[in-house]
Amino acid sequence: YTSNNQGYAPICLGLEDFYTRRLYHRIQDCFGRPIASAPDAWFDVVERYSNDNNKTLKRTANMSRCLNLGSYNYLGFAAADEYCTPRAIESLKGFSSSTCSSRVDGGTTVLHNELEEYVARFVGKPAAIVFGMGYVTNSAILPALIGKGALIISDSLNHNSIVNGARGSGATIRVFQHDTPSHLEEVLREQIAEGQPRTHRPWKKIMVIVEGIYSMEGEVCKLPEIIAICKKYKAYTYLDEAHSIGAVGKTGKGVCELLGVDTADVDIMMGTFTKSFGSCGGYIAGSKELIQYLKYTCPAHLYGTSVSPPAAQQIISSIKVILGEDGSNRGAQKLAQIRENSNFFRSELIKMGFEVLGDNDSPVMAIMLYNPAKMAAFSRECLKQNVAVVTVTFPATPLLLARARICVSASHTKEDLIKALEVIDQVGDLVGVKYFPAEPEKQ
Ligand code: PMP
Repeated sequence: YTSNNQGYAPICLGLEDFYTRRLYHRIQDCFGRPIASAPDAWFDVVERYSNDNNKTLKRTANMSRCLNLGSYNYLGFAAADEYCTPRAIESLKGFSSSTCSSRVDGGTTVLHNELEEYVARFVGKPAAIVFGMGYVTNSAILPALIGKGALIISDSLNHNSIVNGARGSGATIRVFQHDTPSHLEEVLREQIAEGQPRTHRPWKKIMVIVEGIYSMEGEVCKLPEIIAICKKYKAYTYLDEAHSIGAVGKTGKGVCELLGVDTADVDIMMGTFTKSFGSCGGYIAGSKELIQYLKYTCPAHLYGTSVSPPAAQQIISSIKVILGEDGSNRGAQKLAQIRENSNFFRSELIKMGFEVLGDNDSPVMAIMLYNPAKMAAFSRECLKQNVAVVTVTFPATPLLLARARICVSASHTKEDLIKALEVIDQVGDLVGVKYFPAEPEKQ
């Protein structure tokens, strides 16, 4: 039960998971259900977002305006934007909010074709296919790509949509230790003898699935090492860039750009439009043959209603801004700002003595609370001072690795961030979650 309903469960549901669940319910019982129903601790009902770059939101409970540190609105596009919003409104007038048809039954508008061309070009692949929901992109595409007789090797902290897609595919699933390429290689070695040609292996195909930036940790994937291993063992790579596309890399092109990886080395690139692009939906980008195959066979494409036209227009427009095709340099400014904001916020939290997960440049960072019983207090005390943070534990993370997960946006001002840091500093002392000595102030 998480405050943001991510349902980000570890893949290996087995005995351990069974006991974790029981322990979790015991803790809830002992504390009078502090996690699930702590009044005023969560910002789960939002009355409205403000127009000032979506920095603030209003809760219905006490109508307070809060600084929003929980939203995936990395580049600030989920707000009134001088370039994107008028175009989205125009497309609403021209196409309405729904096509009420699947892509193959009249639901493909010029916007959908333009969107797929833009996405392919932006992520650096020959072709792309888009879906109405990021979650469905993973959970529907994996069964369309892989099945019985094949092997999926998945990072242990992959998102629930990947877990569900992998399970639904019927392929055999193995999990490797989170972000640990040496363990991935161990698992691969167990499954196939090194150097064996593809045709002599016990698996029809092998697919390794990782994320660009992990949404509950903020870690950047060790992609170059993963790719080298996949090449050595002739496995396909599937990269979920939900949290990295648009958010990192010099021109926003994600972890490949950030880490200097050639996109040709990643077989299947997946991403969502619900974060950096301020819209909804998801994409798969890959070779022309792969995308053509998916367009003919993937049930979510054949039978599901196509992306809402204003949402498609919002994505096209935000990509144009990021690429500078709107005639301004706002895209470059946003990218510089999110990098600066993320690195500033992270380094200040570390200086205060918090244990912070995640890597430099990542807009996602986790302040470790460990004890799930501290979640409600941490969240409530921050909210009292109008700072909204998301706190999570099982099943989004292991039970005793509860954390406050912060998402920094390019639309946060330095003043916003300084104010939030002051609040989090006080709350950290109050709740007792600073596990390191604070760095002494420099004179
Ligand atoms: N993949 C990852 C890594 C995610 O974190 C999420 C959701 N945050 C999704 C896929 C699903 O995307 P959406 O929310 O756009 O449906």
